Amino acid sequence: MRRKLAAGNWKMNGTDAALAEVDALIAANPSPMVDLLICPPATLIDRMNRRRGNHALALGGQDCHHAASGAHTGDISAAMLADAGASHVILGHSERRADHGETSEMVRAKALAAQDAGLIAIICVGETLAQREAGQALTVIGAQLAGSVPDNARAARTVVAYEPVWAIGTGKTATTTEIAEVHAAIRAALVARFDAEGTGMRILYGGSVKASNAADIFAVPDVDGALVGGASLKAADFTPIVAALERA
Ligand code: PEP
Repeated sequence: MRRKLAAGNWKMNGTDAALAEVDALIAANPSPMVDLLICPPATLIDRMNRRRGNHALALGGQDCHHAASGAHTGDISAAMLADAGASHVILGHSERRADHGETSEMVRAKALAAQDAGLIAIICVGETLAQREAGQALTVIGAQLAGSVPDNARAARTVVAYEPVWAIGTGKTATTTEIAEVHAAIRAALVARFDAEGTGMRILYGGSVKASNAADIFAVPDVDGALVGGASLKAADFTPIVAALERA
């Protein structure tokens, strides 16, 4: 039985004033029936950690370095995220792959570092519009998956997020048919490689998820939740998505 996960990716958004949204999210979801996660900018993790009190809201980073410590100016290690109160880390988001040249090999090294620090890694895969139009979506995603997920990955510490690059922040959502095809392919690849552990790994969909499309997306087989960008910034937008996942 896979627990559903509603994950918010705040990207490079939010300063102290945004903590009021976490208060509102907690107030609107006093005891969520799904796993609830916010990945704020690293600067806010510690403050959110103090703010959430005993609430089940989990916190995550948006990236980590593959090394545990050392001469890497500007980087943050997985252990530092954990120390600040994070239990999760997003890895290989398409914006990191595009903006910072992250390869699947680099993502895999980061995932190993996350494991060592006891974090749950949310490993992102997804095709560009050109790749989809060329009929290469499944091949590209398969290669990203094979390259990014470590061989010793376990269900308890590994989540895969399918995020078509063309659907992120664009208002365009993949159709439920497209999502079903990709999630089934990801599940098959995970089971082929990890057996029962692959069955237990959660697969999230991400890409312009909002209150109006969440229920349809969550009804797709092998969609175990969502990674939500823009609609996670405001509690009023995120809460209906969490509610749709609870009903799914
Ligand atoms: C994301 O950043 O992971 C994402 C899916 O963004 P959005 O929901 O804004 O498309």
